[in-house]
Amino acid sequence: MDQYKMIIGGEAVNAVSSEWDTVINPATEEAFAEVPSADYADIEKAVAAAKAAFPAWSKLTPGERSALMFKLADALEAKSDLLVQVECQNAGKPTKLAANGDIPFAIDNLRFFAGQARSIEGTSAKEYVAGYTSVIRREAVGVVASITPWNYPFMMAIWKIAPAIAAGNTVVIKPAPQTPLTTLIFAQTALEVGFPAGVINAVTGGGPGVGEPLVTNPDVRMISFTGSTRTGKRIMELAAQKMTRVHMELGGKAPFVVFEDADVEAAAHGAIVGGYMNTGQDCTAATRMIVHRSQYEAFIDLYASLAAKVRVGDPLAATTDMGPLISQVQQERVAGFAQRAKDAGLKVALDGGIPDGKGFFFKPTIFRDAPLDSELMQQEVFGPVTVVVPFDTEEEALAIANDTPYGLAASVWTNNMARAWRTTAAIEAGTVWVNDHLPIASEMPHGGFKESGFGKDMSRYSFEEYTIAKHIMFELEGDVKKAWHAAVFYDPE
Ligand code: NAD
Repeated sequence: MDQYKMIIGGEAVNAVSSEWDTVINPATEEAFAEVPSADYADIEKAVAAAKAAFPAWSKLTPGERSALMFKLADALEAKSDLLVQVECQNAGKPTKLAANGDIPFAIDNLRFFAGQARSIEGTSAKEYVAGYTSVIRREAVGVVASITPWNYPFMMAIWKIAPAIAAGNTVVIKPAPQTPLTTLIFAQTALEVGFPAGVINAVTGGGPGVGEPLVTNPDVRMISFTGSTRTGKRIMELAAQKMTRVHMELGGKAPFVVFEDADVEAAAHGAIVGGYMNTGQDCTAATRMIVHRSQYEAFIDLYASLAAKVRVGDPLAATTDMGPLISQVQQERVAGFAQRAKDAGLKVALDGGIPDGKGFFFKPTIFRDAPLDSELMQQEVFGPVTVVVPFDTEEEALAIANDTPYGLAASVWTNNMARAWRTTAAIEAGTVWVNDHLPIASEMPHGGFKESGFGKDMSRYSFEEYTIAKHIMFELEGDVKKAWHAAVFYDPE
């Protein structure tokens, strides 16, 4: 069994307690690696290392930070085969998804932020008050605590670490306990290419026991979190004690709206990829298909027949479309949603469920005609269970689309340009696609409305979140008595 080490203060280390956690392959249910089981003592060490590294790192020129980040991207690219293999083994991802999606895209994200490091912007210097020049500086925040989920482990690590270090911050990252491995490879590779000790620290271990000491550490100045809305709320409560900045990328329940003028065949194909990529464990996954009544039956027939052809199985096989869910807990959770929907009498358009054999697999499952207030229409399943409902008017479609606590992503399917502009503006979500669902770009922001959180990942908007704007004002005349002082002290002239 492979044993991985944490990276703290420029060294590969075991936990202070010398305890280990096992890492499970969700496709085989077998333990295949061990990581240090960190606790409070390890967090103290990691935050202290990040704090000590901050003054020198934040004073490097943007060009120097950028050069190191490009070097890191090249070194990670050279390890792509290893990263793909480990990500597939650890997260159950189909090889083609990790090899053609997650790993190269995440490295592109890193290169984007390496470039962005050199574009720290403020507004132009100007005499906004006569006799004074104002300028803006953007300062790094300090030690950033990053906490990531298990669905895109390597990509989420980069979405958190890259903008933070580009802006001059130092980081302590805690990956999800289920999927720590590629984050540790990332941090180890950073040391190999010459990152100074303490700039990137990675600690592993089980959830709240390590996460809460990290977010409450008094030397942490910002918490950057991706995960469930429930955990996000808990972290905000903890952060409120010290007014620590928070950046929250949370859950989703994306609507997928098919209008009467849409290409139904394209929409049905889009629903397969949008709903089942990464086994539906995607915060932007298409989960609520809202389809005009005139297209309703045609859409369901095609969608269900395509979904039945999705190849579920061994993530390492080149032809596998969908791997397992991440864990037995998640498999039971997803099965619970499906069972409760059946118990409530919801109609089934495709009954997938749990196949025989080892692994936490779950086959595509589709319900139809669900009540709008039902659990399946309102709550995030995070698995390949979707629901289709009909509508008659555009107004009704938009009302259904916006009727959840979430607002991360959505898509509209239409060939009417005016309708596309109208509806994309009306939907409360951070990303809205027209005639596709899921593609993203390093240059464009990703983040939510409502209970999907706030703050952006990727793009220059994310970079800005890891800086604080500072106003510096220069008095230009050198007068002992300035005219405005009369408002407080002497008589106006
Ligand atoms: P989760 O909230 O259970 O855990 C996320 C991370 O938080 C893990 O590292 C976990 O160990 C840690 N954690 C748990 N409790 C904590 C606490 N009290 N204090 C500090 N850390 C704590 O989420 P998950 O099950 O790992 O991931 C799935 C969720 O993530 C879904 O809701 C999904 O929508 C969301 N997600 C959102 C985005 C986005 O960009 N909006 C992207 C990916 C996943």
